[in-house]
Amino acid sequence: MLRYLTLPVTAFQQNCSLIWCDQTMEGALIDPGGEGEGLKAEAQRLGVKLTALWLTHAHIDHAGATGTLARELGLPIIGPHPGDQFWIDGLPQQSKMFGFPEAETFTPTRWLADGDSVSLGHATVAVRHCPGHTPGHVVFHAAEISRCFVGDVLFAGSIGRTDFPGGDHDTLINSITQRLWPMGDDTIFIPGHGPESSFGRERRSNPYVGNT
Ligand SMILES: [Zn+2]
Ligand SMILES: [Zn+2]
Repeated sequence: MLRYLTLPVTAFQQNCSLIWCDQTMEGALIDPGGEGEGLKAEAQRLGVKLTALWLTHAHIDHAGATGTLARELGLPIIGPHPGDQFWIDGLPQQSKMFGFPEAETFTPTRWLADGDSVSLGHATVAVRHCPGHTPGHVVFHAAEISRCFVGDVLFAGSIGRTDFPGGDHDTLINSITQRLWPMGDDTIFIPGHGPESSFGRERRSNPYVGNT
């Protein structure tokens, strides 16, 4: 069975998640945006052997430590969707702009597309392409534990920004209503920032996508 622990990193308090299979103790970091040393230490403390880095999208607070961790630990980088190539190319400029340590660039080992799946130990996680916040944004749906790691697509009470290059409001709303809602009201989501919520709760009360 999959387990996870969410570890906020950087000044943006981005929710990096350590996710692992409790039978094999193989794990992945979803969105290692920074503080790579602390993330490695946490994995070690839990006895989790890191086997991959998974990215929802390539904004600096989500992807900043990816290149360094991949190089140091020899880990494959899984995701995001190729639509975020220009954000990956821009990581060094993003790190300067936001006062982050210089981010190492990288090339994903495996790009993701809608309908893909990624495996972790004995578990499989489904990938959905959810553009709108960025063109190449993906989410990771761990149906077995009714959890979805949604990055900056949806938040408790809010939705992702769409005023960046490549962002589009209508596309984001479609991603939420056509690709997240079908996962079911009981699905708990882990957003890129802030507390967890469920899709059902957001469908009822989120002012941006309520009653959809
Ligand atoms: Zn973002
Ligand atoms: Zn973010």
